[in-house]
Amino acid sequence: MDIKLNYINGEWVPAISGKTRDIINPANEEVIAKTAEGGTDDVSLAIAAAKEAFYGKGEWRRKNVQERSDIILKIADAMEARREELAITDTLDNGKPLREAYGDIDDAIHCFRYYAGMIKAPYGGAYDVNDGFGQMHSYTVHEPVGVCGMITPWNYPLLMAVWKIAPALSAGNSIVFKPSSTTPLSAVILFEILDQVGIPKGTVNLVMGSGGTVGQEIAESMDVDMVTFTGSTEVGQEIARAAVGNLKKVGLELGGKSPNIIFADADFEGAVEWAMIGIFFNQGEVCSAGSRIIIEESLKDKFVARLAERANAMTLGNGMFDPDMGPLVSKDHMEKVLNYIETAKAEGAHCVCGGYRYTEGDCAKGYFVRPTIFDNCTQDTTIVKEEVFGPVVTIQTFKTEEEAITLANDTIYGLAGAVFTTDGARALRVVKEIRAGITWINCYNPTFNEAPWGGYKMSGYGRELGIHGLEEYQEIKQININLTPGKLGWYEER
Ligand code: NAD
Repeated sequence: MDIKLNYINGEWVPAISGKTRDIINPANEEVIAKTAEGGTDDVSLAIAAAKEAFYGKGEWRRKNVQERSDIILKIADAMEARREELAITDTLDNGKPLREAYGDIDDAIHCFRYYAGMIKAPYGGAYDVNDGFGQMHSYTVHEPVGVCGMITPWNYPLLMAVWKIAPALSAGNSIVFKPSSTTPLSAVILFEILDQVGIPKGTVNLVMGSGGTVGQEIAESMDVDMVTFTGSTEVGQEIARAAVGNLKKVGLELGGKSPNIIFADADFEGAVEWAMIGIFFNQGEVCSAGSRIIIEESLKDKFVARLAERANAMTLGNGMFDPDMGPLVSKDHMEKVLNYIETAKAEGAHCVCGGYRYTEGDCAKGYFVRPTIFDNCTQDTTIVKEEVFGPVVTIQTFKTEEEAITLANDTIYGLAGAVFTTDGARALRVVKEIRAGITWINCYNPTFNEAPWGGYKMSGYGRELGIHGLEEYQEIKQININLTPGKLGWYEER
Protein backbone atom coordinates (compact mmCIF):
# COMPACT_ATOMS: atom_id res chain seq x y z
CA MET A 1 0.00 0.00 0.00
CA ASP A 2 1.33 3.46 -0.97
CA ILE A 3 2.17 5.79 1.87
CA LYS A 4 0.52 9.22 1.64
CA LEU A 5 3.33 11.68 2.29
CA ASN A 6 3.65 15.08 3.92
CA TYR A 7 4.03 18.08 1.61
CA ILE A 8 6.81 20.38 2.81
CA ASN A 9 8.54 23.15 0.85
CA GLY A 10 7.07 21.96 -2.43
CA GLU A 11 8.14 18.31 -1.98
CA TRP A 12 6.29 15.12 -1.02
CA VAL A 13 8.29 13.69 1.86
CA PRO A 14 8.00 10.83 4.37
CA ALA A 15 8.10 11.61 8.08
CA ILE A 16 11.70 12.09 9.25
CA SER A 17 11.12 9.30 11.78
CA GLY A 18 9.84 7.02 9.00
CA LYS A 19 6.70 6.40 11.04
CA THR A 20 3.34 5.79 9.38
CA ARG A 21 -0.28 5.55 10.51
CA ASP A 22 -3.05 3.24 9.30
CA ILE A 23 -6.21 5.00 8.19
CA ILE A 24 -9.36 3.00 8.90
CA ASN A 25 -12.72 2.89 7.14
CA PRO A 26 -15.20 3.21 10.03
CA ALA A 27 -17.88 1.28 8.12
CA ASN A 28 -15.91 -1.99 8.17
CA GLU A 29 -12.57 -1.46 9.97
CA GLU A 30 -10.56 -2.00 6.77
CA VAL A 31 -7.23 -0.19 6.41
CA ILE A 32 -7.73 2.12 3.42
CA ALA A 33 -4.42 3.98 3.45
CA LYS A 34 -1.18 4.61 5.27
CA THR A 35 -0.02 8.15 5.99
CA ALA A 36 3.26 9.67 7.06
CA GLU A 37 3.16 10.25 10.80
CA GLY A 38 4.87 13.60 11.24
CA GLY A 39 6.69 14.72 14.37
CA THR A 40 7.97 18.00 15.72
CA ASP A 41 11.00 17.94 13.39
CA ASP A 42 8.73 17.67 10.34
CA VAL A 43 6.67 20.61 11.63
CA SER A 44 9.81 22.68 12.12
CA LEU A 45 10.80 22.14 8.48
CA ALA A 46 7.31 23.09 7.31
CA ILE A 47 7.27 26.23 9.44
CA ALA A 48 10.73 27.22 8.20
CA ALA A 49 9.58 26.76 4.59
CA ALA A 50 6.44 28.81 5.18
CA LYS A 51 8.45 31.52 6.89
CA GLU A 52 10.97 31.73 4.07
CA ALA A 53 8.17 31.82 1.49
CA PHE A 54 6.46 34.69 3.29
CA TYR A 55 9.24 36.79 4.81
CA GLY A 56 12.08 35.74 2.49
CA LYS A 57 10.96 35.51 -1.10
CA GLY A 58 7.48 36.92 -0.45
CA GLU A 59 6.32 35.93 -3.95
CA TRP A 60 2.78 34.92 -3.02
CA ARG A 61 1.91 37.93 -0.86
CA ARG A 62 3.39 40.27 -3.48
CA LYS A 63 1.41 38.86 -6.40
CA ASN A 64 -1.22 41.26 -7.58
CA VAL A 65 -4.68 40.22 -6.54
CA GLN A 66 -5.75 39.31 -10.07
CA GLU A 67 -2.91 36.75 -10.31
CA ARG A 68 -3.70 35.35 -6.87
CA SER A 69 -7.39 35.20 -7.64
CA ASP A 70 -6.73 33.37 -10.95
CA ILE A 71 -4.72 30.71 -9.12
CA ILE A 72 -7.41 30.30 -6.45
CA LEU A 73 -9.96 29.78 -9.23
CA LYS A 74 -7.70 27.09 -10.73
CA ILE A 75 -7.82 25.27 -7.39
CA ALA A 76 -11.62 25.27 -7.54
CA ASP A 77 -11.59 23.99 -11.13
CA ALA A 78 -9.14 21.21 -10.28
CA MET A 79 -11.28 20.20 -7.30
CA GLU A 80 -14.30 20.06 -9.55
CA ALA A 81 -12.41 17.76 -11.91
CA ARG A 82 -11.66 15.45 -8.95
CA ARG A 83 -15.04 15.93 -7.26
CA GLU A 84 -15.99 12.25 -7.26
CA GLU A 85 -12.62 11.14 -5.91
CA LEU A 86 -12.78 13.77 -3.16
CA ALA A 87 -16.31 12.78 -2.13
CA ILE A 88 -15.55 9.05 -2.10
CA THR A 89 -12.39 9.72 -0.09
CA ASP A 90 -14.26 11.64 2.62
CA THR A 91 -16.95 8.94 2.76
CA LEU A 92 -14.42 6.11 3.10
CA ASP A 93 -12.38 8.04 5.64
CA ASN A 94 -15.14 9.62 7.74
CA GLY A 95 -18.10 7.29 7.11
CA LYS A 96 -20.63 9.92 6.06
CA PRO A 97 -23.20 9.10 3.34
CA LEU A 98 -21.82 9.80 -0.12
CA ARG A 99 -24.46 12.42 -1.01
CA GLU A 100 -23.46 14.40 2.09
CA ALA A 101 -19.79 14.13 1.09
CA TYR A 102 -20.67 15.49 -2.37
CA GLY A 103 -22.39 18.40 -0.61
CA ASP A 104 -19.21 19.10 1.37
CA ILE A 105 -17.03 19.04 -1.73
CA ASP A 106 -19.35 21.40 -3.60
CA ASP A 107 -19.35 23.80 -0.64
CA ALA A 108 -15.55 23.65 -0.55
CA ILE A 109 -15.29 24.42 -4.27
CA HIS A 110 -17.66 27.38 -3.88
CA CYS A 111 -15.66 28.60 -0.91
CA PHE A 112 -12.49 28.95 -3.04
CA ARG A 113 -14.47 30.76 -5.76
CA TYR A 114 -16.10 33.03 -3.19
CA TYR A 115 -12.76 34.21 -1.80
CA ALA A 116 -11.16 34.41 -5.25
CA GLY A 117 -13.77 37.06 -5.99
CA MET A 118 -13.72 38.75 -2.62
CA ILE A 119 -10.02 39.61 -2.61
CA LYS A 120 -10.58 41.71 -5.73
CA ALA A 121 -13.26 43.83 -4.05
CA PRO A 122 -11.92 47.22 -2.97
CA TYR A 123 -11.98 47.75 0.75
CA GLY A 124 -10.19 49.63 3.45
CA GLY A 125 -10.90 53.11 4.73
CA ALA A 126 -9.75 56.59 3.69
CA TYR A 127 -9.98 59.60 5.99
CA ASP A 128 -9.09 63.27 5.75
CA VAL A 129 -7.97 64.33 9.20
CA ASN A 130 -6.58 67.37 10.93
CA ASP A 131 -5.59 66.76 14.54
CA GLY A 132 -3.45 69.81 14.96
CA PHE A 133 -0.37 68.56 13.11
CA GLY A 134 -1.78 70.01 9.92
CA GLN A 135 -3.87 68.50 7.19
CA MET A 136 -3.35 64.74 6.85
CA HIS A 137 -4.76 62.03 4.69
CA SER A 138 -5.02 58.61 6.30
CA TYR A 139 -5.94 55.32 4.67
CA THR A 140 -5.91 51.66 5.60
CA VAL A 141 -4.66 48.59 3.79
CA HIS A 142 -5.24 44.94 4.65
CA GLU A 143 -2.13 42.76 4.66
CA PRO A 144 -1.66 39.04 5.24
CA VAL A 145 -0.81 37.96 8.79
CA GLY A 146 2.19 35.83 7.78
CA VAL A 147 2.66 32.15 8.64
CA CYS A 148 -0.73 30.63 9.50
CA GLY A 149 -0.88 27.31 11.34
CA MET A 150 -4.12 25.41 10.85
CA ILE A 151 -5.51 22.44 12.75
CA THR A 152 -8.81 20.79 11.82
CA PRO A 153 -11.15 18.03 13.07
CA TRP A 154 -12.51 14.92 11.38
CA ASN A 155 -16.22 15.67 10.96
CA TYR A 156 -15.97 17.62 7.69
CA PRO A 157 -12.46 16.63 6.64
CA LEU A 158 -12.16 18.68 3.45
CA LEU A 159 -14.60 21.47 4.21
CA MET A 160 -13.08 22.48 7.56
CA ALA A 161 -9.68 22.66 5.83
CA VAL A 162 -11.04 24.81 3.02
CA TRP A 163 -12.85 27.25 5.35
CA LYS A 164 -9.35 28.14 6.55
CA ILE A 165 -7.13 27.58 3.51
CA ALA A 166 -9.33 29.46 0.98
CA PRO A 167 -9.42 32.82 2.81
CA ALA A 168 -5.87 32.56 4.20
CA LEU A 169 -4.35 31.77 0.82
CA SER A 170 -6.48 34.38 -0.94
CA ALA A 171 -5.19 36.97 1.52
CA GLY A 172 -1.55 36.11 0.66
CA ASN A 173 -0.47 34.10 3.72
CA SER A 174 1.80 31.08 4.04
CA ILE A 175 0.25 27.95 5.51
CA VAL A 176 1.21 24.98 7.65
CA PHE A 177 -1.80 22.69 7.75
CA LYS A 178 -2.50 19.71 10.00
CA PRO A 179 -5.65 17.67 9.30
CA SER A 180 -7.18 15.33 11.84
CA SER A 181 -5.04 12.21 12.04
CA THR A 182 -8.28 10.19 11.73
CA THR A 183 -9.33 11.69 8.36
CA PRO A 184 -6.36 13.19 6.50
CA LEU A 185 -6.91 11.70 3.02
CA SER A 186 -8.92 14.40 1.24
CA ALA A 187 -6.36 16.95 2.43
CA VAL A 188 -3.68 14.97 0.59
CA ILE A 189 -5.71 15.33 -2.63
CA LEU A 190 -6.20 19.04 -1.98
CA PHE A 191 -2.45 19.48 -1.57
CA GLU A 192 -1.82 17.55 -4.80
CA ILE A 193 -3.98 20.22 -6.40
CA LEU A 194 -2.23 23.08 -4.59
CA ASP A 195 1.06 21.61 -5.84
CA GLN A 196 -0.10 21.86 -9.45
CA VAL A 197 -1.66 25.31 -9.78
CA GLY A 198 1.42 27.54 -9.52
CA ILE A 199 1.63 28.47 -5.86
CA PRO A 200 5.25 29.37 -4.95
CA LYS A 201 7.27 26.71 -3.16
CA GLY A 202 6.95 26.69 0.64
CA THR A 203 3.74 28.73 0.68
CA VAL A 204 1.54 25.74 1.51
CA ASN A 205 2.65 22.82 3.66
CA LEU A 206 0.88 19.71 4.90
CA VAL A 207 2.04 17.84 7.99
CA MET A 208 0.02 14.83 9.11
CA GLY A 209 0.33 13.42 12.60
CA SER A 210 -1.09 13.50 16.08
CA GLY A 211 -2.55 16.56 17.72
CA GLY A 212 -0.36 16.31 20.79
CA THR A 213 2.86 16.51 18.74
CA VAL A 214 2.24 18.14 15.34
CA GLY A 215 -0.68 20.30 16.49
CA GLN A 216 0.96 21.37 19.73
CA GLU A 217 4.19 22.33 17.92
CA ILE A 218 2.25 24.51 15.46
CA ALA A 219 0.43 26.24 18.32
CA GLU A 220 3.64 26.82 20.30
CA SER A 221 6.03 27.84 17.54
CA MET A 222 7.50 31.33 17.82
CA ASP A 223 7.65 31.44 14.01
CA VAL A 224 3.93 30.95 13.46
CA ASP A 225 2.04 34.26 13.37
CA MET A 226 -1.45 32.85 13.73
CA VAL A 227 -3.01 29.56 14.71
CA THR A 228 -6.51 28.76 13.63
CA PHE A 229 -8.15 25.73 15.15
CA THR A 230 -11.42 23.87 14.74
CA GLY A 231 -12.09 21.15 17.27
CA SER A 232 -13.10 20.49 20.84
CA THR A 233 -13.26 23.17 23.52
CA GLU A 234 -10.72 21.30 25.70
CA VAL A 235 -8.08 21.25 22.96
CA GLY A 236 -9.00 24.83 22.01
CA GLN A 237 -8.05 25.89 25.53
CA GLU A 238 -4.68 24.12 25.13
CA ILE A 239 -4.12 25.88 21.81
CA ALA A 240 -4.86 29.28 23.36
CA ARG A 241 -2.39 28.54 26.18
CA ALA A 242 0.29 27.31 23.79
CA ALA A 243 -0.11 30.39 21.60
CA VAL A 244 0.78 32.81 24.38
CA GLY A 245 4.58 32.49 23.83
CA ASN A 246 4.69 34.89 20.88
CA LEU A 247 1.14 36.25 21.29
CA LYS A 248 0.18 34.81 17.93
CA LYS A 249 -3.30 35.54 16.68
CA VAL A 250 -5.71 32.74 17.59
CA GLY A 251 -8.95 31.68 15.92
CA LEU A 252 -11.02 29.04 17.71
CA GLU A 253 -14.07 27.22 16.31
CA LEU A 254 -15.06 24.90 19.13
CA GLY A 255 -17.81 22.66 20.40
CA GLY A 256 -21.47 23.28 21.06
CA LYS A 257 -24.57 22.07 22.88
CA SER A 258 -27.07 23.96 20.84
CA PRO A 259 -30.73 24.49 21.77
CA ASN A 260 -33.53 23.82 19.32
CA ILE A 261 -36.58 25.62 20.76
CA ILE A 262 -39.94 24.45 19.46
CA PHE A 263 -43.19 26.26 20.28
CA ALA A 264 -46.59 24.55 20.11
CA ASP A 265 -47.68 26.78 17.22
CA ALA A 266 -44.79 25.63 14.98
CA ASP A 267 -45.49 23.95 11.66
CA PHE A 268 -45.45 20.40 13.06
CA GLU A 269 -44.05 18.28 10.23
CA GLY A 270 -41.56 21.00 9.28
CA ALA A 271 -40.26 21.20 12.84
CA VAL A 272 -39.91 17.39 13.00
CA GLU A 273 -37.96 17.23 9.73
CA TRP A 274 -35.63 20.08 10.67
CA ALA A 275 -35.09 18.59 14.13
CA MET A 276 -34.07 15.34 12.39
CA ILE A 277 -31.58 17.23 10.21
CA GLY A 278 -30.45 19.22 13.23
CA ILE A 279 -29.35 16.16 15.16
CA PHE A 280 -28.93 13.20 12.79
CA PHE A 281 -27.26 14.84 9.78
CA ASN A 282 -23.62 13.74 9.48
CA GLN A 283 -24.28 11.13 12.25
CA GLY A 284 -24.79 13.99 14.68
CA GLU A 285 -21.07 14.76 14.38
CA VAL A 286 -21.79 18.43 13.77
CA CYS A 287 -20.52 21.22 16.00
CA SER A 288 -23.76 23.17 15.58
CA ALA A 289 -26.03 20.11 16.02
CA GLY A 290 -29.41 20.81 17.61
CA SER A 291 -28.63 18.37 20.39
CA ARG A 292 -31.02 19.87 22.96
CA ILE A 293 -34.66 19.98 21.89
CA ILE A 294 -36.50 22.37 24.19
CA ILE A 295 -40.18 22.01 23.43
CA GLU A 296 -43.43 23.57 24.69
CA GLU A 297 -44.92 21.10 27.13
CA SER A 298 -48.30 20.77 25.37
CA LEU A 299 -46.63 19.56 22.15
CA LYS A 300 -44.02 17.29 23.69
CA ASP A 301 -45.69 13.85 23.61
CA LYS A 302 -46.93 14.18 20.04
CA PHE A 303 -43.59 15.57 18.86
CA VAL A 304 -41.41 12.95 20.56
CA ALA A 305 -43.62 10.13 19.23
CA ARG A 306 -43.28 11.42 15.67
CA LEU A 307 -39.55 12.10 16.01
CA ALA A 308 -38.99 8.57 17.35
CA GLU A 309 -41.03 7.10 14.49
CA ARG A 310 -38.82 8.97 11.99
CA ALA A 311 -35.61 8.06 13.84
CA ASN A 312 -36.54 4.37 14.05
CA ALA A 313 -37.11 4.35 10.29
CA MET A 314 -33.59 5.60 9.52
CA THR A 315 -31.34 3.22 7.61
CA LEU A 316 -27.75 2.76 8.76
CA GLY A 317 -24.99 1.43 6.58
CA ASN A 318 -21.79 1.95 4.64
CA GLY A 319 -21.78 5.56 3.45
CA MET A 320 -20.88 4.42 -0.08
CA PHE A 321 -24.42 3.04 -0.44
CA ASP A 322 -26.04 6.28 0.73
CA PRO A 323 -27.95 5.14 3.80
CA ASP A 324 -29.70 7.74 5.98
CA MET A 325 -26.76 7.60 8.37
CA GLY A 326 -23.23 6.19 8.26
CA PRO A 327 -20.96 4.91 11.05
CA LEU A 328 -19.34 7.14 13.65
CA VAL A 329 -15.83 8.15 12.71
CA SER A 330 -13.78 5.80 14.89
CA LYS A 331 -13.98 3.06 17.49
CA ASP A 332 -12.82 5.45 20.22
CA HIS A 333 -15.45 7.96 19.30
CA MET A 334 -18.20 5.34 19.14
CA GLU A 335 -17.22 4.14 22.62
CA LYS A 336 -17.32 7.71 23.91
CA VAL A 337 -20.84 8.17 22.51
CA LEU A 338 -22.00 4.80 23.92
CA ASN A 339 -20.59 5.80 27.33
CA TYR A 340 -22.61 9.01 27.25
CA ILE A 341 -25.71 6.94 26.43
CA GLU A 342 -25.10 4.61 29.40
CA THR A 343 -24.51 7.59 31.68
CA ALA A 344 -27.82 9.15 30.61
CA LYS A 345 -29.66 5.90 31.29
CA ALA A 346 -28.04 5.59 34.71
CA GLU A 347 -29.00 9.17 35.52
CA GLY A 348 -32.68 8.40 34.88
CA ALA A 349 -33.20 9.89 31.44
CA HIS A 350 -35.73 7.88 29.42
CA CYS A 351 -34.31 6.34 26.23
CA VAL A 352 -37.20 6.65 23.76
CA CYS A 353 -35.40 5.06 20.84
CA GLY A 354 -31.95 3.89 19.78
CA GLY A 355 -29.37 3.89 22.54
CA TYR A 356 -27.18 1.04 21.33
CA ARG A 357 -24.49 -0.04 18.87
CA TYR A 358 -26.00 -1.40 15.66
CA THR A 359 -24.31 -4.51 14.26
CA GLU A 360 -26.85 -6.08 11.92
CA GLY A 361 -25.88 -7.34 8.46
CA ASP A 362 -23.10 -5.34 6.82
CA CYS A 363 -22.86 -3.14 9.89
CA ALA A 364 -21.28 -5.94 11.97
CA LYS A 365 -17.75 -4.53 11.90
CA GLY A 366 -18.58 -0.84 11.68
CA TYR A 367 -19.01 1.81 14.34
CA PHE A 368 -22.76 2.31 14.03
CA VAL A 369 -24.99 3.79 16.73
CA ARG A 370 -28.76 3.93 16.27
CA PRO A 371 -30.28 7.42 16.35
CA THR A 372 -31.08 8.04 19.98
CA ILE A 373 -33.67 10.22 21.75
CA PHE A 374 -33.63 10.83 25.50
CA ASP A 375 -36.73 12.20 27.21
CA ASN A 376 -37.05 13.28 30.87
CA CYS A 377 -33.79 15.21 30.81
CA THR A 378 -32.91 17.99 33.23
CA GLN A 379 -30.17 20.62 33.35
CA ASP A 380 -28.21 18.15 35.53
CA THR A 381 -28.26 15.31 33.00
CA THR A 382 -24.68 14.91 31.74
CA ILE A 383 -25.68 14.79 28.06
CA VAL A 384 -27.57 18.07 28.47
CA LYS A 385 -24.37 19.72 29.68
CA GLU A 386 -21.66 18.00 27.64
CA GLU A 387 -21.17 17.70 23.89
CA VAL A 388 -21.81 14.09 22.79
CA PHE A 389 -20.99 14.73 19.13
CA GLY A 390 -23.12 11.82 17.95
CA PRO A 391 -26.73 10.95 17.03
CA VAL A 392 -28.10 11.62 20.51
CA VAL A 393 -30.71 14.27 21.33
CA THR A 394 -32.21 15.33 24.65
CA ILE A 395 -35.78 16.50 25.24
CA GLN A 396 -36.74 19.15 27.79
CA THR A 397 -39.96 21.07 28.13
CA PHE A 398 -41.01 24.63 28.92
CA LYS A 399 -44.25 26.44 29.69
CA THR A 400 -43.26 30.05 29.01
CA GLU A 401 -41.05 31.88 26.53
CA GLU A 402 -38.80 33.08 29.37
CA GLU A 403 -38.32 29.54 30.60
CA ALA A 404 -37.35 28.39 27.10
CA ILE A 405 -34.75 31.15 26.83
CA THR A 406 -33.34 30.41 30.28
CA LEU A 407 -32.94 26.72 29.48
CA ALA A 408 -31.43 27.50 26.07
CA ASN A 409 -28.76 29.78 27.52
CA ASP A 410 -27.90 27.68 30.57
CA THR A 411 -24.82 26.18 28.93
CA ILE A 412 -21.10 26.93 28.73
CA TYR A 413 -21.39 26.85 24.94
CA GLY A 414 -22.72 29.44 22.49
CA LEU A 415 -22.30 28.12 18.99
CA ALA A 416 -25.80 27.82 17.53
CA GLY A 417 -29.53 27.59 18.19
CA ALA A 418 -32.93 27.64 16.53
CA VAL A 419 -36.51 28.66 17.12
CA PHE A 420 -39.61 27.09 15.55
CA THR A 421 -42.85 29.09 15.71
CA THR A 422 -45.36 30.65 13.32
CA ASP A 423 -45.44 33.82 15.46
CA GLY A 424 -42.98 36.10 13.65
CA ALA A 425 -42.53 38.59 16.46
CA ARG A 426 -41.84 35.81 18.95
CA ALA A 427 -39.35 34.19 16.58
CA LEU A 428 -37.35 37.42 16.37
CA ARG A 429 -37.64 38.10 20.11
CA VAL A 430 -36.39 34.65 21.09
CA VAL A 431 -33.64 34.35 18.50
CA LYS A 432 -32.19 37.66 19.69
CA GLU A 433 -32.05 36.31 23.24
CA ILE A 434 -30.12 33.16 22.31
CA ARG A 435 -26.48 33.73 23.27
CA ALA A 436 -24.93 32.05 20.22
CA GLY A 437 -23.17 33.06 17.01
CA ILE A 438 -25.32 31.11 14.56
CA THR A 439 -29.13 30.98 14.80
CA TRP A 440 -31.97 29.79 12.63
CA ILE A 441 -35.70 30.45 12.51
CA ASN A 442 -37.89 27.60 11.25
CA CYS A 443 -34.93 25.65 9.89
CA TYR A 444 -31.77 24.02 11.22
CA ASN A 445 -28.18 23.89 9.92
CA PRO A 446 -28.18 25.71 6.54
CA THR A 447 -24.73 27.31 6.19
CA PHE A 448 -23.48 29.75 3.55
CA ASN A 449 -20.10 30.99 2.42
CA GLU A 450 -21.51 34.52 2.63
CA ALA A 451 -22.43 34.47 6.35
CA PRO A 452 -19.89 34.49 9.21
CA TRP A 453 -19.62 31.30 11.25
CA GLY A 454 -18.45 31.13 14.85
CA GLY A 455 -19.37 30.96 18.49
CA TYR A 456 -19.96 32.91 21.68
CA LYS A 457 -18.78 31.82 25.12
CA MET A 458 -16.79 28.54 25.21
CA SER A 459 -17.61 27.79 21.57
CA GLY A 460 -14.64 29.95 20.65
CA TYR A 461 -13.72 33.25 19.09
CA GLY A 462 -13.16 34.66 15.64
CA ARG A 463 -15.31 33.97 12.60
CA GLU A 464 -14.96 31.85 9.48
CA LEU A 465 -16.65 32.50 6.14
CA GLY A 466 -18.01 35.80 4.87
CA ILE A 467 -15.87 38.91 4.81
CA HIS A 468 -15.03 38.37 8.50
CA GLY A 469 -13.52 35.01 7.53
CA LEU A 470 -11.09 36.83 5.22
CA GLU A 471 -10.29 39.54 7.76
CA GLU A 472 -9.24 36.88 10.30
CA TYR A 473 -6.23 36.26 8.05
CA GLN A 474 -5.38 39.92 7.60
CA GLU A 475 -3.69 42.66 9.57
CA ILE A 476 -4.89 46.23 9.11
CA LYS A 477 -2.29 48.90 8.56
CA GLN A 478 -2.90 52.64 8.65
CA ILE A 479 -0.85 54.83 6.32
CA ASN A 480 -0.79 58.54 7.14
CA ILE A 481 0.29 61.20 4.65
CA ASN A 482 1.19 64.72 5.62
CA LEU A 483 -0.46 67.06 3.10
CA THR A 484 1.37 70.11 4.43
CA PRO A 485 5.01 69.02 4.57
CA GLY A 486 7.32 71.40 6.29
CA LYS A 487 4.73 72.44 8.85
CA LEU A 488 4.59 70.95 12.34
CA GLY A 489 1.23 72.36 13.44
CA TRP A 490 0.81 72.75 17.19
CA TYR A 491 4.18 71.14 17.81
CA GLU A 492 5.82 74.08 16.00
CA GLU A 493 3.95 76.57 18.12
CA ARG A 494 5.05 75.11 21.50
P1 NAD B 1 -10.25 17.48 18.72
O1 NAD B 1 -10.22 18.74 19.50
O2 NAD B 1 -9.97 16.21 19.43
O3 NAD B 1 -9.18 17.56 17.53
C1 NAD B 1 -9.20 18.59 16.58
C2 NAD B 1 -7.81 18.70 15.98
O4 NAD B 1 -6.90 19.11 17.00
C3 NAD B 1 -7.25 17.40 15.40
O5 NAD B 1 -6.52 17.69 14.23
C4 NAD B 1 -6.35 16.92 16.51
O6 NAD B 1 -5.33 16.07 16.03
C5 NAD B 1 -5.79 18.21 17.03
N1 NAD B 1 -5.28 18.19 18.41
C6 NAD B 1 -5.60 17.33 19.42
N2 NAD B 1 -4.90 17.63 20.53
C7 NAD B 1 -4.13 18.71 20.23
C8 NAD B 1 -3.21 19.51 20.97
N3 NAD B 1 -2.91 19.26 22.24
N4 NAD B 1 -2.62 20.56 20.33
C9 NAD B 1 -2.92 20.84 19.06
N5 NAD B 1 -3.77 20.12 18.30
C10 NAD B 1 -4.38 19.08 18.88
O7 NAD B 1 -11.64 17.48 17.97
P2 NAD B 1 -12.23 16.33 17.03
O8 NAD B 1 -12.64 15.19 17.90
O9 NAD B 1 -11.33 16.08 15.88
O10 NAD B 1 -13.53 17.09 16.45
C11 NAD B 1 -14.71 17.23 17.14
C12 NAD B 1 -14.80 18.59 17.80
O11 NAD B 1 -14.67 19.62 16.83
C13 NAD B 1 -16.15 18.80 18.45
O12 NAD B 1 -15.99 19.38 19.71
C14 NAD B 1 -16.83 19.79 17.50
O13 NAD B 1 -17.85 20.56 18.08
C15 NAD B 1 -15.68 20.61 17.02
N6 NAD B 1 -16.01 21.28 15.77
C16 NAD B 1 -16.27 22.64 15.80
C17 NAD B 1 -16.62 23.31 14.63
C18 NAD B 1 -16.95 24.79 14.63
O14 NAD B 1 -17.05 25.36 13.55
N7 NAD B 1 -17.14 25.42 15.76
C19 NAD B 1 -16.68 22.60 13.43
C20 NAD B 1 -16.40 21.24 13.44
C21 NAD B 1 -16.05 20.59 14.62
